[in-house]
Amino acid sequence: MRPLLATGRTASTGVNASIPGMAADTPEPALRLDSAPDGKAPARAPADGALQALADQCVMCGLCLPHCPTYRISLDEAESPRGRIALARWIASGRLEPDPTALRHLDQCLDCLSCQTVCPSDVRYGEIITRTRAMLRRRPGLVARLLTDPARLVALARIGALLKADRWLPRLSRWLPPSLRTLAERVPAASATMPIARSRTAPDRGRVTLFRGCVASVYDRDTHEAARALLEALGYEVAVPEDTPCCGALARHAGDTEAADREVARACAAIAETGGEAVLVSASGCFGELRDHVARAGGPSVVDVHAFLARDARIGALRFRPLSARAALHLPCTQVNVVGEVASIRALLARIPALIVLAVPEQPRCCGAAGNYFIEHPAIADRLRDEKLTQIGADAPDVVLTTNVGCRIHLANGLRGRAGAPPVRHPLALLAQQLENAAP
Ligand code: SF4
Ligand code: SF4
Repeated sequence: MRPLLATGRTASTGVNASIPGMAADTPEPALRLDSAPDGKAPARAPADGALQALADQCVMCGLCLPHCPTYRISLDEAESPRGRIALARWIASGRLEPDPTALRHLDQCLDCLSCQTVCPSDVRYGEIITRTRAMLRRRPGLVARLLTDPARLVALARIGALLKADRWLPRLSRWLPPSLRTLAERVPAASATMPIARSRTAPDRGRVTLFRGCVASVYDRDTHEAARALLEALGYEVAVPEDTPCCGALARHAGDTEAADREVARACAAIAETGGEAVLVSASGCFGELRDHVARAGGPSVVDVHAFLARDARIGALRFRPLSARAALHLPCTQVNVVGEVASIRALLARIPALIVLAVPEQPRCCGAAGNYFIEHPAIADRLRDEKLTQIGADAPDVVLTTNVGCRIHLANGLRGRAGAPPVRHPLALLAQQLENAAP
């Protein structure tokens, strides 16, 4: 068979070496992606026939390659969706041992699903990569466990701030595992709460539940206050679960199905206790996991909060103060590829008179945040973020808006310390800040 593509790209070719941190110092064995590595019959029974069947849906046309962020920066087939699907197929069929090179290529996928969105053959890439990691029993590391525990996250952010302030961090660096050091460097202080003049109307629209999640309960506190203010102005009673469990997305993407199921079950229980008629989610990264599992548990519908607000019958009765500002709207991959709600965000922002909403080019294109990816794979994440910030900076916005908490932290980290850098906020925070009245 003629090779599909220049195969067997290795670090020694200099392709991977162009990405700092992409293990350029580790020699990679050549990966042939057009046929099985040894051309022989499977060495053992399929480890996962269902996974193999999913991977077999890929006709290897390569149309997804230009949309894959890791392929774009590496030009390495093994860093592409087609390459990762080939790896999954071989591992599932027993023809390839999951060695460190293969695992790294699978781990370096951002789970952005841009490949799935553009695939003409409807290949379910998200299911393929999740099943592959689950089959390999990849466990979320310490970073993921710390991130999903709000109390520990707050403590860690305080320790990180102290270390940075006292310049101890560089001196202590050598004693910390690399991922912990990166975590301490990259988690900011908890977000400030937002002083919002609440214009309540008597609740006559029923009760809705606002899901806070784990990381967002620490870094999107202003967003949650804004969502509450807007919903109350429309006449809803807003219930917020006391508990702030994780939706399970971080564990599931890492391949730990059991931990993910445990976490999302805890989230479903916390939601059920509130008795809301709908569950509203403001962080796009939490949406997919919650939508599927709350529905399976027979709970209320999970709705993107922007869609809920934009389609509310009373939204036209709310008035917003004019704001002469230019806002760059960053669309997270999860907002476009999983939630599928973009028009409602634009429609809401269009309600603020004088606000100019700037379109960031090439969206969705992952900024590198991708759950805990910006901590686990900082070199790739920072390169993707720098490209994104260059695009955003070309329009000199007054504020950057994003609907996912991870993107917010990662983009803000990239802007910190730059002269005249715009703040990074959630669109709902801007709306609530400009809100003038409650719906009659
Ligand atoms: S995932 Fe879809 S677009 Fe990508 S190579 Fe396979 S069939 Fe083609
Ligand atoms: S999910 Fe994103 S990073 Fe992963 S293969 Fe698809 S496009 Fe590439």
